[in-house]
Amino acid sequence: MNWKNIKTILAGLFLFAVCTAQAQTVKKSSPTENKPKIVVGMMVDQMRWDYLYRFQNRYSEGGFKRLLQEGFSCENTMIDYSPTITACGHTCVYTGSVPAIHGIVGNDWFDREKGKNIGCVDDESTQLIGSEGNSTGQSPHNNLTTTITDQLRIASNYQSKTVGVAIKDRASILPAGHAATAAFWFNRKDGHFVSSSYYMNDLPEWAKRFNAKGAVDSYLDKDWETLYPINTYTLSTADDKAYENTANGDTKPVFPHKLKQFKGKNFGAIVNTPHGNSITFDFAKAAIEGYNLGGGNFTDFLAISFSSPDAIGHTYGPNSIEQEDDYLRLDKDLAAFFNYLDKRFGKNNYLFFITADHAVSESPGYYLENKMPSGAITDDEFAKPVVAALQKQFGIENPILSFANYQLYMNWEEFDRKNIDHSTVEKTITSLLMKVKGIAMVLPVVSLSTAPIPDLIKNMLIKGYNMKRSGDFMVIPQPTWKGGSIKGATHGTWYPYDAHIPLVWMGWKIKPGYTNRITGMTDISATLAALLHLQMPSGCIGQPITELTGGR
Ligand SMILES: [Zn+2]
Repeated sequence: MNWKNIKTILAGLFLFAVCTAQAQTVKKSSPTENKPKIVVGMMVDQMRWDYLYRFQNRYSEGGFKRLLQEGFSCENTMIDYSPTITACGHTCVYTGSVPAIHGIVGNDWFDREKGKNIGCVDDESTQLIGSEGNSTGQSPHNNLTTTITDQLRIASNYQSKTVGVAIKDRASILPAGHAATAAFWFNRKDGHFVSSSYYMNDLPEWAKRFNAKGAVDSYLDKDWETLYPINTYTLSTADDKAYENTANGDTKPVFPHKLKQFKGKNFGAIVNTPHGNSITFDFAKAAIEGYNLGGGNFTDFLAISFSSPDAIGHTYGPNSIEQEDDYLRLDKDLAAFFNYLDKRFGKNNYLFFITADHAVSESPGYYLENKMPSGAITDDEFAKPVVAALQKQFGIENPILSFANYQLYMNWEEFDRKNIDHSTVEKTITSLLMKVKGIAMVLPVVSLSTAPIPDLIKNMLIKGYNMKRSGDFMVIPQPTWKGGSIKGATHGTWYPYDAHIPLVWMGWKIKPGYTNRITGMTDISATLAALLHLQMPSGCIGQPITELTGGR
């Protein structure tokens, strides 16, 4: 072999080496290797940040404790706006936006054009899919902005799949996005997970099989007993408290909560128990397998929401044995779910985050029992007198169109017809309501920006106010006061007990740690956009959490 030949062979080898290197480079930059296989966004309805810690003595190693040990916790994540209500929260997390912009101002609100209250996801142009009969369906059409799940779909030219799963329709539909592959939720009428003609004309076969198995009845077969002996629940009040409500026909708010009687009949009974969480996990796993989520070349997104903790919290309150037991059980389910995700995708191939749509106050009855300020504002003290006074003073039969989301919707048309000056009405309403025990502030929205109230509250109220869909007066109760009665618990205000939510990230690219810096609910989508190299959703006002995204 002469030198020339050797050179040719070397050149050939070199070329081959270059080609191989190029081939490897191309392979390394394939989408699945630079991105997680799947993002799992988990929202727990009404989960307060302190629940991560409060029951930790009995949390398992693999659930909430694992999340805090292996994950990154944004310890002071606050909701950016008020009212702090379910649909607003789910929309905010997935749009990085606020009701002023995305338009989801409550679970329902008064629609001035239609002249009636409407549900946030009800859509008369759609049909419910997977349930017998012709029921109206649901869709995300009232959300005016794109979601991070939409942006993922856009970025992959719709090759990424996004799926929503929850007990509540809104908690599945709003996170999954406008361009979602599908959203599923629990239908109390027949105990099935259903969807809408907005997404599909028929349920997928795997979902039909899931429903046919009758999982709901196998859960209702188990009465709700405490996980551990009831006398070991030392972090909660006694089981029977006068300020707890009852559910599912119970005569007293005490264990065991009987469920067997509802088998094959009242499927909705599962919602008020931790079994509602377990069946959500079951269906989420079926969806992962049914759609082969995380199995393609592009990152997929599963948005799951757990609605039962909200139902349990409203009924029994955050200090009840019921809520402690609910979280101990949720922790076990979560540990099992993490094991499942580890096995299916590999520990660092999925990005997981957990947060909540809002938190919750203690029950007024609980505060009063423990000598803390609280109380209830009843309809007889609040709504009825204001309506009667307006009728008497201005001669208008129906002066207020609706009370919703801590707001009054005025019948201005009637006032205008009689040439009544709005500012006179504003003065009348403000002075009337400010006399009601338990009301802290009454703010006509027209003077919101000049009201003598702290900037923080003003800012949150303005972000929560949508010019087309919100009411005309905002009514803020005193801290810890609740509408209705001193029984049970609720949320919806700007106060920290309603606005301080957990936010913990785990898995793909996440290094363990925490920050006590204030972060916002709107930052979640901005952070996902930065991590996944996606354009932010169309109304996003949040900022990336740079402790997670790197850079500065
Ligand atoms: Zn609620």
